[in-house]
Amino acid sequence: MSDERWDGGAVGERAVCVREDNPGVMTLDGTNTWVLREPGGERSVVVDPGELDEPHLRAVLEVAAPVALVLLTHRHGDHTGGAAWFADAAGCPVRATDPDHCTGAPPLADGEEIEVDGLRLRVVATPGHTSDSTSFLLTDASLLTGDTVLGRGTTVVAHPDGALGPYLDSLERLSGMVDAGEVARLLPGHGPVVDDAGAVLDFYLTHRAQRLEQVRAAVADGAVTPRAVVERVYADVDESVWPAAELSVAAQLDHLAAGG
Ligand SMILES: [Zn+2]
Repeated sequence: MSDERWDGGAVGERAVCVREDNPGVMTLDGTNTWVLREPGGERSVVVDPGELDEPHLRAVLEVAAPVALVLLTHRHGDHTGGAAWFADAAGCPVRATDPDHCTGAPPLADGEEIEVDGLRLRVVATPGHTSDSTSFLLTDASLLTGDTVLGRGTTVVAHPDGALGPYLDSLERLSGMVDAGEVARLLPGHGPVVDDAGAVLDFYLTHRAQRLEQVRAAVADGAVTPRAVVERVYADVDESVWPAAELSVAAQLDHLAAGG
């Protein structure tokens, strides 16, 4: 994991990141829009156009045209807000796990293989950050993770749409894919490329387990509301991320209440 600023660019032979200029607490350096194309192939696939931000969308189109398909990793606006504008400009369909975010094509199915001019992608359902969170596996062992795993720090379980049980299962699933040699590198929705996928997934799993223990202890100590838990458990973290932390804590309280 890198603390250096991330500006996007080419990653391997098939992926180029056009980083949107929308930095923030949740978006880190900005949203990563991924343009995928098989070497020698004509048309591209664009993953997560980003917000409705015309200068960004035009910059993506310049790199990506002609575009066969837009894919979405999940429903949050920093990934999807510009999808309709972009698909219209590019003249292509939009596919997502959430049917409400599809245009002109059916929703994605877990395990589905997509092929565009020689580029092959496998759909990997990774719910947890949101219920519709989806990753995409390329043939060079790169996995596009959306907000399931970020390039820096950790992510939020966006309660109540997101949930901790499915999130932990998704991390375990990805960890298993690393062990099986299917995944080596992560191309996240925000922040820099992760070259050691196994180490970062281990870190995420350890971090989640530690936080869950801390939340359990805070509850045993009398904290009732997510806010009260955040004030104890996230005392070491900048207050600007407390609203996001409250969502993750609410998800953890749900998980504990369900006997997790
Ligand atoms: Zn995001």
